[in-house]
Amino acid sequence: MPGAPFPAKLTRIEQLSTNTLQLSFQPVASFDFVAGQFLQLHLNVDGTVHKRSYSIANSPAGFQASGLLQVAMSLVDGGVASTFFQQATPGTEVGMTGPYGALTLPEALPGQLILVGTGTGIAPYRSMIPRLTALAAQGRAITTLMGFRYRHECIYAGDFVPVAQQRICLSRESQLIAGEYAGRVQGQFDDLNLDPEKDLVYLCGNPGMIDECVALLKDWGFAPRQIKREKYVYSGH
Ligand SMILES: Cc1cc2nc3c(=O)[nH]c(=O)nc-3n(C[C@H](O)[C@H](O)[C@H](O)COP(=O)(O)OP(=O)(O)OC[C@H]3O[C@@H](n4cnc5c(N)ncnc54)[C@H](O)[C@@H]3O)c2cc1C
Repeated sequence: MPGAPFPAKLTRIEQLSTNTLQLSFQPVASFDFVAGQFLQLHLNVDGTVHKRSYSIANSPAGFQASGLLQVAMSLVDGGVASTFFQQATPGTEVGMTGPYGALTLPEALPGQLILVGTGTGIAPYRSMIPRLTALAAQGRAITTLMGFRYRHECIYAGDFVPVAQQRICLSRESQLIAGEYAGRVQGQFDDLNLDPEKDLVYLCGNPGMIDECVALLKDWGFAPRQIKREKYVYSGH
């Protein structure tokens, strides 16, 4: 329901990894969304309103049950929202609009589903877990490619274990353990036996990663309709 911002109360702040917070909000208005969408927070800092977008990290069913919307926020040194939420306490009120975005699952899935996310870009796929569970039960092959620099930055990995083949790509970790792969997510496509006619690839997070993946996938014959993307561009105002 995009439009004028409505109030939302911050109810919980959790440390997900060394550089990531999970924030829970209780919207003070009716709210409805589809898994994969994002919301926008309106933060009043010294009389100036700053708008920042965040993928919703819990499922619509989870929201219905708890009344809470979760987001995962990667902390940026000196960032407006990063500083705001490092200092915030439960009960803090913010403005919210949404939902927005079309990084959502189709009704039918003809081939494999490849979900690629760097950092908090994995969050919208967590919102999809109930649907992914149903798709996996129908025998659909689902792979998550998660990109982080170091193991200690990894978030939500355990949540996908029951529904997807998971590859955690660590670009700067020297010693790897089972389930971890050296390098960036782009390096994994070669191994996935991709079918550009049937498979669907979702890309979320770092804009540079998304551009590189789209170029690679296009070279392999993927049409634009077989690739869905959400770039985490930084508004910085
Ligand atoms: C559709 C959409 C969905 C998004 N979803 C999420 C999400 O789920 N989780 C999430 O954490 N972020 C998400 N973002 C990014 C988010 O909206 C903010 O941009 C981010 O949290 C930084 O905000 P900030 O106010 O702390 O930093 P700002 O005050 O905006 O930036 C401070 C400085 O840091 C730079 N900067 C900002 N972020 C980074 C970064 N990651 N790496 C390097 N430099 C940076 C800026 O260019 C600026 O110079 C999303 C963005 C979009 C467009």
